[in-house]
Amino acid sequence: MSRKLRVAVVGAGPAGVYAADILTKNEDVDATVDLIDRDPTPFGLIRYGVAPDHPRIKEIVKALKRVMANPDIRFFGNVAFGDDIKLEDLRQFYDAVVFATGARRDRELDIPGIDLDGSYGAADFVYWYDGHPDVARDWDFQPHAKEVAVLGVGNVGLDVSRILAKTAEELLVTEIPENVYEGLKKNATTDVHVFARRGPAQVKFTPMELRELSHSPNIDVIVHPEGFEFDEGSMEALKAAKSQKLVVDVLTKYLATEPSGAPHRIHIHFCQSPVEVLGEDGKVVGLRTEITELDGTGNVRGTGEFKDWPIQAVYRAIGYYSDVLAGLPFDAAAGVVPNDGGHAIDLDGSPIPGVYVTGWIKRGPVGLIGHTKSDAAQTIGMLVDDIDALEAPEHAEPEAFDRYLDSRGLEYTTWEGWEKLDAHELGLGEAHETERERVKVVPREDMVRIARA
Ligand code: NAP
Repeated sequence: MSRKLRVAVVGAGPAGVYAADILTKNEDVDATVDLIDRDPTPFGLIRYGVAPDHPRIKEIVKALKRVMANPDIRFFGNVAFGDDIKLEDLRQFYDAVVFATGARRDRELDIPGIDLDGSYGAADFVYWYDGHPDVARDWDFQPHAKEVAVLGVGNVGLDVSRILAKTAEELLVTEIPENVYEGLKKNATTDVHVFARRGPAQVKFTPMELRELSHSPNIDVIVHPEGFEFDEGSMEALKAAKSQKLVVDVLTKYLATEPSGAPHRIHIHFCQSPVEVLGEDGKVVGLRTEITELDGTGNVRGTGEFKDWPIQAVYRAIGYYSDVLAGLPFDAAAGVVPNDGGHAIDLDGSPIPGVYVTGWIKRGPVGLIGHTKSDAAQTIGMLVDDIDALEAPEHAEPEAFDRYLDSRGLEYTTWEGWEKLDAHELGLGEAHETERERVKVVPREDMVRIARA
């Protein structure tokens, strides 16, 4: 090819940035990449998914910033695929489009009462405490909601439980925006009840995150003995994965530890499958679970026995779910764009020319941030193999895309704009009376204004 290959990556979270990095570093290809994101800021899930009290994970940003220093990679924020720009628009400017749009919604839980007042999706709560511009500024903490249920025993369930059980003061050292700090002061939760529908060997927590729960002086972790059982399938799972064994070791330690009398508690209950959120006057007043038993394979069956828990709020953390992408097929059961490991494929199984997927939109919302690297390598490998077959865009010069966005009156942000916003937020942190590292700006219009100043 006599010109540089032009690739758009939609989604500037870790999956997208890794894809851009891998492609631009490929010695057999001379490519430039434009990362396009609906958020005015880059880094997706790291900014708006990782909990604020996890600065170590947020450090991944440092590596992503080094990637973005590559002049062959540009950033266009505040441009929403589907609303502002469609696949046919992108095809005019790029040889190929890689979707790395992740999964940003809560998976539905179809049980009676799930829509009651006081029943929430974890993703919504995460967006709120991480200061995403598109969610309401106030969280609806009810003064009577002292006992709260969290459904699901993955790391998102842990994040939500920890944030609910910590005090606002404990979280003030983090980058939470002012409205989140003020909101958290209204959180009356004393007891968080986390429900696993299976046993301890089947939880999806990771050991470090589970251990960390006890690091807060305000939290006792109480593992309840009912359902703390292991069948043959559980023993196999523990033998097969060291990390699962470590998780069970931590749970066993919690089980044997006397509560210290901390003001807040996180309870972990096993073999309780949520079947109904109980309500009164439209508000959550309880949770009904069916007690389950392990069936020998590590799965469970219902026992037909039910238990009602007096709780006043429910957070479902049963997994994320991707948005449908305009103009692309969608596998609703898996919540992904159908693909063969990299190419997006049509309903008849044929690859859609020039369209690729990577990250959670490709393989579903599982795995840690680092896993998206190998995923991106696979996708980009397929793209590179296809280069000779890609259809050339009508406008291959990079400036054509900027001109197009301008002509549409779209107020996009750039990498330089992000650097300005980044400096602004760090400045807010420094100026804060408690000298915080960063204070996030929340309203979209403020972010865009600062970035485009
Ligand atoms: P996850 O790890 O898949 O956990 C989902 C949990 O929901 C599982 O315990 C699952 O139980 C349960 N569940 C699903 N359907 C249910 C139902 N109908 N009733 C009751 N429980 C149900 O998902 P996640 O917590 O959203 O995390 C997504 C990914 O992000 C994971 O890879 C996670 O490790 C990662 N993450 C990492 C961090 C971190 O490193 N600190 C933080 C957040 C997220 P079953 O197993 O029985 O299906």
